[in-house]
Amino acid sequence: VPVGDTEVVENREISAASYTFSQFPEYLRLKQTMAQLLMTGVPNPYFSVHESVVQDTTIIDGRELVSFASFNYTGMSGDPEVSQASIDAIKKYGTSVSASRLVSGQKPVHIELEKKIADFCGVDDSLTFVSGHGTNESTIGLLVSPGDLILHDSLSHNSIVQGSILSGARRRPFAHNDFEELDRVLTEVRHQYRRVLVVVEGVYSMDGDYCDLPAALEVCKRHKALLMIDEAHSLGTMGSTGRGMAEHFGIDPNEVDVWMGTLGKAFGSCGGYIAGRRELIELLRYTAPAFVFATGISPSVAAAALKAFEVLEREPQRVAKVLANAALFLSLLKDAGIDTGLSGGTPVVPVITGNSLVALRLSHRLQLDGVNAPPILYPAVEEAAARVRFFITSTHSEQQLRETAAKVIKHVDSMGIRRTTEATAN
Ligand code: PMP
Repeated sequence: VPVGDTEVVENREISAASYTFSQFPEYLRLKQTMAQLLMTGVPNPYFSVHESVVQDTTIIDGRELVSFASFNYTGMSGDPEVSQASIDAIKKYGTSVSASRLVSGQKPVHIELEKKIADFCGVDDSLTFVSGHGTNESTIGLLVSPGDLILHDSLSHNSIVQGSILSGARRRPFAHNDFEELDRVLTEVRHQYRRVLVVVEGVYSMDGDYCDLPAALEVCKRHKALLMIDEAHSLGTMGSTGRGMAEHFGIDPNEVDVWMGTLGKAFGSCGGYIAGRRELIELLRYTAPAFVFATGISPSVAAAALKAFEVLEREPQRVAKVLANAALFLSLLKDAGIDTGLSGGTPVVPVITGNSLVALRLSHRLQLDGVNAPPILYPAVEEAAARVRFFITSTHSEQQLRETAAKVIKHVDSMGIRRTTEATAN
């Protein structure tokens, strides 16, 4: 640094906003958003405290509500067998592994779980991480670097975007589920890069639609690009026995390079995994930062997930139930002309309100009416795509679904929310 420049830095007054959290522009923006929320008169919908196991119902402020806010798709959290497995693991191993697994934190239950995930997914091996978010960040961050290219679906989860940024590779989103666009981009630029990683999701959790995996696979193979799929919302919910998108489409799992998923949704636990070829898992096991430099997942957490896989293998009817429940709920709303966006064939059903304030109010009215379904507001989605989102589970009864759909329709009407064109015509 030239001496003159150093002097300028030394003499410049350092603004308090650079070292005082309360003056950070990021903090001031947050306060402004929260003030706007307060002005709506609707109570803050975030950080609600749930005082019970959350399956088909939950308890908030002592009131029982029908719950559509959790990813407990197959009812594994709160399942007595899953809870017992977790308790047994605590008795045997304590509550923490107290070290990175690379050093001294590995227990037999980790090995059993990773073998189970690999077998369930139909690939060589797998590796578990303490968080699904960290799994994506660390894995994507490791597999590509400057000089490489990441092409990801435009509706990708934050963890995929963050991993892409971390990697230093060039990042380019492609239009949602548009594999013709992906093909065009690859035709144009593939040769300019060393590696290309394409990242898609199985089920898209904001919209409730799913990836056209055969199309993605065909394009990636032709252009010699690696394909990674995030199955956070599709493992345990898609395919006739819950084996996710490979089973849904009848694809050999070994055709896809990187399978990612989470244990905190259909598997009643917490954490994430990568599954795939032996060499990939070996590479991650020794070098993925979020694995190597992190305390391994707690034995009770691993044991709960392991038991959930076993229960799902024994009771695949839970998967059919989730999808049948979701199909019923979706058809009740669609028949009434409610705008459910792209949803279809998955456990996620959004009700698009087209405006954040309306989504907030609809969610609040439903809450007062005994239904817990969270609003998704700008900037999580585009303002015109603000919504109230429903996660359907195998534990919901037909009566709960019918009553909830009727309440949604009632409040949509009383609030004057637009119905879809087909419905108006009906
Ligand atoms: N991927 C997707 C698609 C997700 O929806 C989520 C979280 N809901 C994650 C990754 C992160 O997983 P986790 O919650 O286990 O950190």
